Amino acid sequence: MILRIICGSILIFLCAQSVQATTIAEVIAGITSESYQQVHTNLFVSDGQNRGFTGDLDANIPRVPAYQHDEARDYIFDSFESFGLDPWLDPFWFTRSYGGVSYTYTNCNNVVAVQYGVATNAGWYIVGAHYDSVDTGQFLELSPGADDNASGTAAVLELARILSPHTFRDHIVYIAFDAEEKGLHGAWHFVDTHTTTDPAKTNLILRSDVRGMISLDMLAYNPAGTHQDKVRIYGGSSSTNAPVRAALQSALTRYTSITVVNSGAISASDHYPFHLHGMDACLLIEYTLNPHYHRTTDSIDTPGCIDHEYAAELTRGTAAYLAEQAGIILPATLTPPSFQGEDEVLFSWSAQSGAVYRVAYKDDLTDTNGWQTLGVITNFYGWETLRITNQVGTVSRRFYRVENVYEP
Ligand SMILES: [Zn+2]
Repeated sequence: MILRIICGSILIFLCAQSVQATTIAEVIAGITSESYQQVHTNLFVSDGQNRGFTGDLDANIPRVPAYQHDEARDYIFDSFESFGLDPWLDPFWFTRSYGGVSYTYTNCNNVVAVQYGVATNAGWYIVGAHYDSVDTGQFLELSPGADDNASGTAAVLELARILSPHTFRDHIVYIAFDAEEKGLHGAWHFVDTHTTTDPAKTNLILRSDVRGMISLDMLAYNPAGTHQDKVRIYGGSSSTNAPVRAALQSALTRYTSITVVNSGAISASDHYPFHLHGMDACLLIEYTLNPHYHRTTDSIDTPGCIDHEYAAELTRGTAAYLAEQAGIILPATLTPPSFQGEDEVLFSWSAQSGAVYRVAYKDDLTDTNGWQTLGVITNFYGWETLRITNQVGTVSRRFYRVENVYEP
């Protein structure tokens, strides 16, 4: 705690702050089983639905998005936009061989939204999930992909919904990857096109500024038994103490009822291209592999296939990770002031590292000239205390408040 004294000054009565979350636990509680389920349901996860591509066997005809693929893409885009973010489509194409025949896939799109942090030296946190599902063109069943991977996509949308109203120190990138099922093509494209090792390319994300990347892929299968309510974290390498893995495990352990099993290396999801390019990246995935994986029965209509509460809990834990690591700046919460006579008042508030607070006052609440700035105070940690003195006879008759100012 730091005691700060402002002399020759004024102030008093506390204005009620608007009702807002003031702790990370309150922020992540905004994700509920019901809110998660609503988003998940909107991603076309029922029997007969699909987010894949055409499966034409003629190699001269490009394979393009089919079924509900583009409807899901648009739903994701519109959702980001409705949160006040400024999403963009990240188009790409690629070729892929099946049975010795090379096919071209076109009209692929990642959906990307960036929430910019306020620090001048802000780093980048990236959270992504693929929204495509497998199709018959891969000689697989036409799967709705309710678990693989509408479950992770819904999590990304829920993260964006509850975190976007808040201010952060660092940047957060929310990505719905396309064409993961064809070979991580959306993630490869994003890494190749939008990240760089060259600091001169200031329009791209500098890879050394990426503090953590998480792929959310299959978050909803949670059968009863000894492994219920467990989750796995895999890295691109087997180093289980990489910072992103350690911090994600820590957040999940402290903020959820899920048991984390830190599980070595895996290359089969969208974290892998980030890992191969030197970024600290990991995969969060259900403990027990869903038996409906890549099948028509990976559907909300299959009993036991999807556990919304489990997925919501994992999403809350991931939200806690982002809030802690990307430095959420929460509103100041004032305690009631304690008056030391008429000319001195003491009050304190919860303060975030890196946040900036403006202390302001009014003599008269009907005054329409707004709040007068008493001081702007930076570099707070924990609880801060402000003592206001030397305003003989006026201190206890005035109104004041503390508000966040979001410049770093
Ligand atoms: Zn998947």
